[in-house]
Amino acid sequence: MPRLTGRKIIVTGGASGIGRATARLFRQEGADVAILDRSDNAAKAVADEIGAVSFGCDVSDPASVSAAVAKAAEAMGGLDGLVNAAGILSETGLSDTSADVFARTVAVNLTGTFLVIQAAAPFMQKGGKGTIVNIASGVGLMPTGPGSIAYVASKGGVVALTKSASMELAPAIRVNSVCPGAVETPMTAGHIRTADGAPSPSIASRYALGRHAQPEELAAAILFLTSDESSFVTGIALPVDGGRTFH
Ligand code: NAD
Repeated sequence: MPRLTGRKIIVTGGASGIGRATARLFRQEGADVAILDRSDNAAKAVADEIGAVSFGCDVSDPASVSAAVAKAAEAMGGLDGLVNAAGILSETGLSDTSADVFARTVAVNLTGTFLVIQAAAPFMQKGGKGTIVNIASGVGLMPTGPGSIAYVASKGGVVALTKSASMELAPAIRVNSVCPGAVETPMTAGHIRTADGAPSPSIASRYALGRHAQPEELAAAILFLTSDESSFVTGIALPVDGGRTFH
């Protein structure tokens, strides 16, 4: 039985990586899907391939977000789901992170998540129900070393934002976050594998399961938190990290 039949769901960052795998799985599970991404052409290509719609959107820009969310809701005839997967990585530490890099990282990863929730929630409230899944990160629960201070701060913020929004939007709308470990996507190209294409030994040694993840393994967890199978779950931060956060 498809688990999302009749659902109308926005996936930000759906042009690539975890968002793309999620959009594809959601279509297979019967949902109407609207992809919102700053990469218009890539988003359209994914949408055409899976039978979704797409709209260009910079999640850090309030006007762009409100216009794109309204267009998506109109195109689908309503809105009862949102996955916030748009994000950027920054890999500098305390001493070498400029104020601009810190602000941009937070603007996309944290403020962007807030803006899309703020724009989408009224459409879901109008329909009387909804689910929101924010893609945080394992480092938002437990930073794993120096070198990504803005990214870690933004993802810790997404975990806290999720809990706060879950209280504000209950009981009609459930809000949860997923905290991935290392996932093989364009964002992590150059980290996940060595120059000869083998899986990175440092990842294998740090993860209880001894490997990195594929985007589809994250999409499966996002599906659980979007479907009625998680009907009594809200406000959580679910590690999907091969055992990294306790290993
Ligand atoms: P990705 O680079 O493959 O995809 C990110 C998508 O977000 C792209 O399509 C990009 O165009 C879009 N995007 C970036 N900035 C945007 C903006 N301002 N407005 C709209 N769209 C924007 O990366 P991914 O690995 O699939 O990452 C998805 C999410 O998962 C991100 O939030 C990332 O931080 C998080 N995450 C990834 C990993 C990993 O190992 N890949 C681990 C933990 C968390």
